[in-house]
Amino acid sequence: MRMENDSLDVKDFELGEYSGKESFRLRTFDLGDGSNLSLPCGVISREEGPTVCIVGGQHGIEWNGTYISQKIFKQIDKKKVTGNLVVLPILNPLAFNQKSRVSSIDSIDLNRTYLSKNYRKPTERLGKLLFENIFSKMDYVVDVHTGGPGEYLPHAAVTNRKRISEASLILPYIYVAKNWGNTLVSSSESQGIRSILLEIGRGRNINYEYVDKTIDGLKNYLKATKLLKGSIDKRDEDVFVNKEKIGSPFSGFFKSNVELGEYIEEGEVIGIVEKILGKKEEIYSPISGRILYLRRERAVAEGESIVHIFW
Ligand SMILES: [Zn+2]
Repeated sequence: MRMENDSLDVKDFELGEYSGKESFRLRTFDLGDGSNLSLPCGVISREEGPTVCIVGGQHGIEWNGTYISQKIFKQIDKKKVTGNLVVLPILNPLAFNQKSRVSSIDSIDLNRTYLSKNYRKPTERLGKLLFENIFSKMDYVVDVHTGGPGEYLPHAAVTNRKRISEASLILPYIYVAKNWGNTLVSSSESQGIRSILLEIGRGRNINYEYVDKTIDGLKNYLKATKLLKGSIDKRDEDVFVNKEKIGSPFSGFFKSNVELGEYIEEGEVIGIVEKILGKKEEIYSPISGRILYLRRERAVAEGESIVHIFW
């Protein structure tokens, strides 16, 4: 039985060797100064059954994902589990410590490193070690993210249409992405691991209403995987296959005219961008669809997203 101050080398991570509920530091590799890069890991293991991994903190400012994954670990009663649940709330500790999306140690996005051919830089080495020793051993992976300067209405994203019904057990809005390169969801799916990405709220914040809603959905999903005992609650779904990111035409301040989650028609005014010491311009929607991402930070640079419209 490992406790929260104990550690384990990621290369020694074997499912079926744990009993009950344990949390510890997962050691990865030594950085330039000889200190080891480690991350928090929680495991609930009981009898033979499915293996599910819930991940947060691939990006260091996406705290809803970190908070949700550690909270669900604390809440789950080990007596109701059959199989293995692995929870990794801070996948990129370098970025989390720095309170930035990626770490300035190499400025590489961890969520673009899986099954990549490059693994010399620290973030690439971390991605390779985690994929080889943890994710590749899973049946299911759920990767929880958050917006940055904008807020996401809680929704799921999948790269495989077969995951739509599973994802609908977690959240009612589902986006089917075409190709997501070396992301965890795409890479895991390519290895036959059933994978879902969640986008919840905005960066540098915790939205407790979204947290509760997502944890409720995740428990429902865990019942469907047969990891958690209990009856499944079937839910409605709204599936989108297209997404348009509307960028600001110039740098300035953005004022929204729409609500997050609202359905807008083509030609409606999304908001106004006001240039510093300059003009004001209304931004019109080029399409009809639902706003699942809305900028919350007022300052905007040319080309940065003000909304993402799904349809
Ligand atoms: Zn993210």
